[in-house]
Amino acid sequence: ATPTALMVGTGRGAQLGILIKGPEVLESTRKVDTVVLDKTGTVTTGRMRLQDVYVTGSTSEEELLRLAGALEHASEHPVARAVADGAAARVGALPAPEAFENVPGLGVRGTVEGRTVLVGRARLLEEAGMEPPSELAGISGRTAVAVAWDGEARGVLTVADAVKEGSAEAVARLRGLGLKPVLLTGDDRAVAEAVAAEVGIDEIYAGVLPQDKVATVRRLQAEGRRVAMVGDGVNDAAALATADLGLAMGTGTDAAIEAGDLTLVRGDLRVAADAVRLSRRTLATIK
Ligand code: ADP
Ligand code: MG
Repeated sequence: ATPTALMVGTGRGAQLGILIKGPEVLESTRKVDTVVLDKTGTVTTGRMRLQDVYVTGSTSEEELLRLAGALEHASEHPVARAVADGAAARVGALPAPEAFENVPGLGVRGTVEGRTVLVGRARLLEEAGMEPPSELAGISGRTAVAVAWDGEARGVLTVADAVKEGSAEAVARLRGLGLKPVLLTGDDRAVAEAVAAEVGIDEIYAGVLPQDKVATVRRLQAEGRRVAMVGDGVNDAAALATADLGLAMGTGTDAAIEAGDLTLVRGDLRVAADAVRLSRRTLATIK
């Protein structure tokens, strides 16, 4: 009866929109007590929109958008797409960058119209020996991106992202199943706190670089916790593989899907709770 019950569990999973890599996944799903949630693209839609533009000194808004948009056009990050699309909508066609480099968790750098341009978090500018724009200090609870070129901060762009419908319900259901929800993000603390408050999470790890997401999962495991991780990004792949159970958003990147044990096909976080319930019921049937 054992293989039959597992097959039924797997088949029921497919109906719910859960793809399971193998029957052994059910056992890890049953045991988890902590669920680490990536913010952008997992708890939030990841469909960001360009909002406000602040310029420093004599910089023109048009030039800021043209140079930042041109560089971000070469990146697939949700923040980059918002900047590139918003810039193109406001200033028209964007030039092609002469050089481009992605700096994971921090932003992008490259050359546009002969200028060395940086777009990203304050830390990206600091690491290049630049002072971040003072406008950043006045922005809280929104994702803010600094823009600099030729050694000087030139302005700030803000992008907004919305919490997904169903995220708060998903967090409540996961909690009801005995899992402690945790928010893990590379974004700033104030943004993380605003999202966490909206969905009902009180344990937050913010400003975590992509390579440190794995370390965060390991630290929780070292505390004796059995960790499920839900993520969508290239940045989340290693953490998904390290977690006791990796759940990938089907709407996310191939890297995340390959690293996960389970895929939530529609990218609906509520289905993560269904997965836990299903595996517990399937295994109870076997025993
Ligand atoms: P999350 O962990 O929430 O999925 P990421 O680790 O992908 O977020 O990114 C963390 C932060 O780094 C973003 O919120 C943004 O501030 C900044 N960032 C990353 N990539 C870019 C980019 N291409 N342009 C601007 N900012 C970026
Ligand atoms: Mg993400």
